[in-house]
Amino acid sequence: MDRIDCVDCVVIGAGVVGLAVARALALQGREVMVLEAANAIGTGTSSRNSEVIHAGIYYPQGSLKARLCVLGKQMLYDYCAERGIGHQRCGKLIVATSAAQAAELPGIIARAAANGVNDLILLTQAQAQAMEPQLACVAAVYSPSTGIIDSHALMLSLQGDLENAGGVVVINSALAHASCAPTAITLVANDGTELQARTVVNAAGLQAPALAARFAGLHASFVPPAFYAKGNYFTLSGRSPFSRLIYPVPEPASHLAGLGVHLTLDLGGQAKFGPDVQWVDSPDDLRVDAARGDAFYAEVRKYWPGLADGALAPGYAGIRPKIQPPGAPASDFVIQGPAEHGVAGLVNLFGIESPGLTSSLAIAACVASLLQQ
Ligand SMILES: Cc1cc2nc3c(=O)[nH]c(=O)nc-3n(C[C@H](O)[C@H](O)[C@H](O)COP(=O)(O)OP(=O)(O)OC[C@H]3O[C@@H](n4cnc5c(N)ncnc54)[C@H](O)[C@@H]3O)c2cc1C
Repeated sequence: MDRIDCVDCVVIGAGVVGLAVARALALQGREVMVLEAANAIGTGTSSRNSEVIHAGIYYPQGSLKARLCVLGKQMLYDYCAERGIGHQRCGKLIVATSAAQAAELPGIIARAAANGVNDLILLTQAQAQAMEPQLACVAAVYSPSTGIIDSHALMLSLQGDLENAGGVVVINSALAHASCAPTAITLVANDGTELQARTVVNAAGLQAPALAARFAGLHASFVPPAFYAKGNYFTLSGRSPFSRLIYPVPEPASHLAGLGVHLTLDLGGQAKFGPDVQWVDSPDDLRVDAARGDAFYAEVRKYWPGLADGALAPGYAGIRPKIQPPGAPASDFVIQGPAEHGVAGLVNLFGIESPGLTSSLAIAACVASLLQQ
C-alpha cells in the first residue's frame, strides 16, 4: 500500500464545483490536490446540463441558491470576459400561454426583485413576438441577464488556474473511505493508497452523500439521503427558431416539473429542449427513452406551434443530485462545515443541483472563506 504524507487540502471530485473550490483554495496560497474518480475532469453532471447562466429568478429569497446564483452569475460573467471563455448573454423569455399563466408574471418579477434581480421586463404578446416572431404566447417576461456558457472551457480554465497556483488534479483516483481525527483526515483511495489531509472538501456531486457515509467520525445524522431526478433532453434538427432561451411559466404540479420543457441554445446555435424530470433509482441511469419525446412535442407546441413532426431526436440526460424525495419541496444547497457537523477540516457539499454551474465561483468563495475561519 502506498502512503503519501500530509497534504493541506484535498478536494474530492473534479466537476465544475470541485474545480472552482480547488482553484479558490490554491489562490489563497494553500496546497491543493483534487482526486477525481473518472479518467478526465468534468465528466459527471457538469457535462450533462443546459449550460445556462441563470439570472436567479425563482429561488426562495435568502436561500443559498438565490444568493450564490446572483453573486455567481456576476462572478462568472466577469471571469468569462477576463479569460475569453465562450459565453453569450443571450437573454431569456418566460412565456405565458394562457391567461392564468399571464397572471403569474408580475409575481415572477417581484420574486426576482426580492433576490436582487431587478432587470426583468414584462412584455405584451406583440412585444414578445416582435423579439421572437415564431413564439406563441399571451404575454412574457424578458430576463436580459440570462446567458449561456461553454462549461468545458470554463472547467479547463479553472484547472489551469489551479495548476498555475501549484495545485494538482489526480484522475483515475476514486476515494473509497476516510476517517476523521482532530488533527487530520485519513483518506483511502480505491487502490489502497493512503493520504492524510488537514482539509477535505467533498464535492463528489451525485456521490457526495454515499461518500460522506463512508467518513468514519462524521455522524450519520449529517448525511442526507440521496435521490436522483434524471433530466432528459431532445435535440432539434435544423436551425433554431429562436435566438433567446424560451422557458414556459413553471407548473410545479406537472409530471414535467422543474422549470418546464424549455428551449436552450448552445454557443453553436444548436437548440435543445428539456430537461424533463424522471425520478430514477441509480445515478448511472443516463439512457434517454425515445418514447418520452411524445410529451415534449405537446409541451413545446404550446409556445412553438411550428414544431414539425419528427424534428426532435433523443439527446442526452443529466441527473440532478437531489437530497429530498419526489414530491417534497426542492431543498437548498447544503454547504456543511465544521460548525455544523463538528469534524475539523471537513466540508461536505450536498444537493448541488441547478444553479450549481452558475453558482460555482460563488460556492467556491463561500467554501474558501468557511475554511479560513
Ligand atoms: C439536467 C441538468 C441541467 C442543469 N442545468 C444547469 C444550468 O443550465 N445552469 C446551472 O447553473 N446549473 C445547471 N445544472 C446543475 C449543474 O450541472 C451542477 O450543479 C454542477 O454541474 C455540479 O457540479 P459538481 O462539481 O458538484 O458535480 P459533478 O459535475 O457531478 O462532479 C462530481 C465529480 O466527483 C467525482 N467523484 C464522485 N465520487 C468520487 C469519489 N469517490 N472519488 C473521487 N471522485 C469522485 C465524479 O466522477 C465527478 O467528476 C444542471 C443539472 C442537471 C442535472
